Amino acid sequence: MNLVIMGPPGVGKGTQSHLILEKRKLIHISTGDILRMAIRSGSDLGKKVQAVMNSGDLVSDDLMMELIKDRLSQDDVQNGWLLDGFPRTPKQAEGLVEILDGIGIGIDAILVLRAPAEEIIRRLAGRITCRACNEVMNLIGLGGVSPVFCPFCGESKDPKRSKPALYQRADDKEETVRHRLEVFRKKTLPAAWILEDRYPLHEIDGNGRPGEVTQRIESVL
Ligand code: AMP
Repeated sequence: MNLVIMGPPGVGKGTQSHLILEKRKLIHISTGDILRMAIRSGSDLGKKVQAVMNSGDLVSDDLMMELIKDRLSQDDVQNGWLLDGFPRTPKQAEGLVEILDGIGIGIDAILVLRAPAEEIIRRLAGRITCRACNEVMNLIGLGGVSPVFCPFCGESKDPKRSKPALYQRADDKEETVRHRLEVFRKKTLPAAWILEDRYPLHEIDGNGRPGEVTQRIESVL
């Protein structure tokens, strides 16, 4: 099974992706995670994309196409994948269709998660990530107080850089989030409509508890 999950930042794509993956033997391909890993490794790719990501803009289509073409050709993804964060522009959507046609495979479902902008800003203002285990959590769910230790892996410091383990992503600041929402509306939604011409697309209400959203997703899969 090949799935694509799309939606504005903070709508719950990451959470829902993990729940979908738990049930199915699919490989998670998150372009945001791949780029963040490149930044942390200090690679040339990482250096190129760091400023773009922090500003909330999109990394160039050419670079992203190269990255996804390479990832989709690797052995571990041949039995099915969940694509998270790609495509993000009409050019990427057209490129993806071309790659998949070339391999001779399709997409079983495109899930487009939606939620109002103000709800998204409220959620992202409280989102924190652990540098040690990469787990994402929300201060709203943790009673509003940032813990010293990561509740998932127990780390208080990033093992590599002796910074606090828990941090807010630079691109989760309110102003940047508003910009990312605008980018989603202008560039990523049109990408979804391009895919809809070829594959089944389902719009999913992303409001409510994660379990409720999962049920909505499961009912269309
Ligand atoms: P995400 O974790 O999916 O929200 O991605 C974080 C950031 O990585 C985005 O705001 C972009 O700067 C960059 N990024 C991730 N995926 C893509 C993509 N498909 N095209 C362009 N930029 C991307």
